Amino acid sequence: MNFTDFGFDPRLMEGIESLGFEIPTPIQQQAIPVIMEGKDLIGAAQTGTGKTAAFLLPIIHRVLKEDSGSGIKALVIVPTRELAVQIDQHMQGLSYFTSVSSVAIYGGTDGATFTREKTALTEGVDVVICTPGRMLAHLNMGYVNFSTIRSLVLDEADRMLDMGFVDDIMKIISHVPKVRQTLLFSATIPTDIKILAKKVLNDPSEINIALSKPAEKILQLAYSVYDTQKLPLVKYLLGTSKGRTILIFCSTKSSTKLLSRELKKAGLEVQEIHSDLEQKERESVMNNFRAKDIQVLVATDVVSRGIDVENIDLVLNYDVPNDAEDYVHRIGRTARAEASGVAITFINPDGQWKFAEIEKLLGKSIHKGAIPSQFGEAPEYAPKKRPIGNFRRGKR
Ligand code: AMP
Repeated sequence: MNFTDFGFDPRLMEGIESLGFEIPTPIQQQAIPVIMEGKDLIGAAQTGTGKTAAFLLPIIHRVLKEDSGSGIKALVIVPTRELAVQIDQHMQGLSYFTSVSSVAIYGGTDGATFTREKTALTEGVDVVICTPGRMLAHLNMGYVNFSTIRSLVLDEADRMLDMGFVDDIMKIISHVPKVRQTLLFSATIPTDIKILAKKVLNDPSEINIALSKPAEKILQLAYSVYDTQKLPLVKYLLGTSKGRTILIFCSTKSSTKLLSRELKKAGLEVQEIHSDLEQKERESVMNNFRAKDIQVLVATDVVSRGIDVENIDLVLNYDVPNDAEDYVHRIGRTARAEASGVAITFINPDGQWKFAEIEKLLGKSIHKGAIPSQFGEAPEYAPKKRPIGNFRRGKR
């Protein structure tokens, strides 16, 4: 299958070509014809599968085909600012040769930004990409007119429910006309997503791009280690990865800061990203990382989903993720689209049962490497049953 098979507007085809997309990804092959037909859709697909273009392309095509009025034509609701910015950038790339306009509305910034967002919303923009809280703030001011919207997208719906946005989302949707096309994308489709889908979608088609699929191209490795062995081992691994782009995930802000400081001391080009940083600082760090001005980014899972950085060579889980799905999202930062990559996880004794849950979700066991002998004896990997608690496996 080829992009020419979808019957897209020639101006849109130029955008696709300029981004270097040659063959539609599986989610694009399956979703685009359904969306072009006008049907509602539930897409079970995670980041890295090409799902953004799968919904943006038919939306841009529809705007080009249907009308030139100044009202808002499509609304995309997403969980995080980073994802809103990234989708808007994707949108600008794809629509570059068209007159279709877009704006990202995501809050957390200064008053001038609010005013700029207000201007875009009131003076006319075709596609609005927003986080729920900020969109609601604008809606509550009374100047936003959603009556011309014909396409609604809920992206990373499971994440949005996790973050407690369900009421905000429903309030926003109450302003959108009932006659519309609705598309919902989610990494998994647990019961709460099904309930939401029933409320907002109309007889949807369902597409499922299997959860572990993008991970197939990723070489996954794990090391069973004591906490005290992590820092020397990470320095050793980074020492052997000169020139590579590396993303390290820690489970807490404090360990993110600590590790970043230690790696800087060791002479590495490192920056960190976590929720203590201002929005502007986060954007600047992400831009530096994208531009490959820094080699190593140490992050909390603020950035584990939805952030589109190409060609990360290595994803390192310094701690076992607290949520089995987060593991899949984190390692999904490598091996994007056609590339391949490596994902390494450090498993401390307390993390063993969590890692066993991850392996259960993946349906396979991950190879456990032996750490070099200079780091001392490593703990045996012998996970016990999960303790009482709420580590979730595939359930959001
Ligand atoms: P997404 O899952 O939407 O975050 O997309 C993952 C990455 O794949 C992004 O960097 C896209 O630019 C890229 N991508 C999307 N569709 C294609 C395609 N058909 N061919 C090559 N790369 C693509």
